[in-house]
Amino acid sequence: MNVAFVGLGTMGSPMVMNLLSAGHSVSVHNRTRAKEQSVVEAGAIATSSPQQAATDADIIITCVSDSPDVEAVILGESGVIHGATSGSLIVDMSTISPGVTQRIAKTLAQKDIQMIDAPVSGGSEGAQKGTLSIMIGGAEADVEKARPVLEAIGSTVTHVGPIGAGQTTKAINQIIAAGTYWGVAEGIALGLKAELDMDKVIQAVGSGASASWCLTNRSDNMINNRYPLGFRVRLHQKDLAIALQTARELNLPLPMAAYVEQMENGLIANGHGDEDLSAIARIVREMGGISDD
Ligand code: NAP
Repeated sequence: MNVAFVGLGTMGSPMVMNLLSAGHSVSVHNRTRAKEQSVVEAGAIATSSPQQAATDADIIITCVSDSPDVEAVILGESGVIHGATSGSLIVDMSTISPGVTQRIAKTLAQKDIQMIDAPVSGGSEGAQKGTLSIMIGGAEADVEKARPVLEAIGSTVTHVGPIGAGQTTKAINQIIAAGTYWGVAEGIALGLKAELDMDKVIQAVGSGASASWCLTNRSDNMINNRYPLGFRVRLHQKDLAIALQTARELNLPLPMAAYVEQMENGLIANGHGDEDLSAIARIVREMGGISDD
């Protein structure tokens, strides 16, 4: 299968590596062209624009930051829409607004180009190991066309519903992550204040009903007060804003998600927006007067 891939960030680059390992031919493009080098050394073909990447591709994957960025790489000048041929399929793996997704799909359909939304969960570790959970919205036939490609990237590929349903599912995922990260940060703060052996605490609670991806993979960050990427705070704040907007449209209050989103605004204002989401623990630690030592 000829695959095009646009957006070689924390998630995109390892996804391309896994596509190459699975034997797919992959044309790539990244706005900052220097980031193409490592995947090109592994066998990908560099192209000068999303439009050029899409030429001759059966499936075009996009994985960029936010709704306006997906609009730019698909519909903008030199966007995918100008290179993709009739009958080709765009798979957007970015996390963006369900409403914007539906709008883009409508514009593409006028040129007989299909689209599915396929946001992911599982972090940079999941992207590297090819174990992402992929949540999909779109037509059944399009999902089945993309499945062999997506199975090289993720270990759980779930078709949830029509176009946009993948993004709404991702919003649900991010609401749950907000509560989990905040809860883990508060639990760790109590353990640090009580001067417990935190390795033993994490081992004990991680084997019970409080086990979570965050506890397993991010408690070290919170204990050591160091937050290497991972998943940027500003991207999770963007995702919670999408979740809150979607909930508002459905007349649903989400007080916990709103609280964590505001705390993340505070982190961004204080220069921590490009740290890993586990940096949420900074706020809890600071409120408790917990120092680094
Ligand atoms: P990232 O490391 O910040 O990379 C973002 C990518 O998007 C870069 O390649 C960037 O190009 C490109 N981009 C952004 N705006 C663009 C524009 N207007 N035009 C063209 N290219 C543009 O982000 P990431 O962590 O890979 O995340 C990508 C998507 O996956 C996001 O929607 C995020 O919410 C989602 N996601 C991330 C994680 C995670 O753990 N990181 C987990 C699940 C889902 P440049 O290199 O030129 O800046």
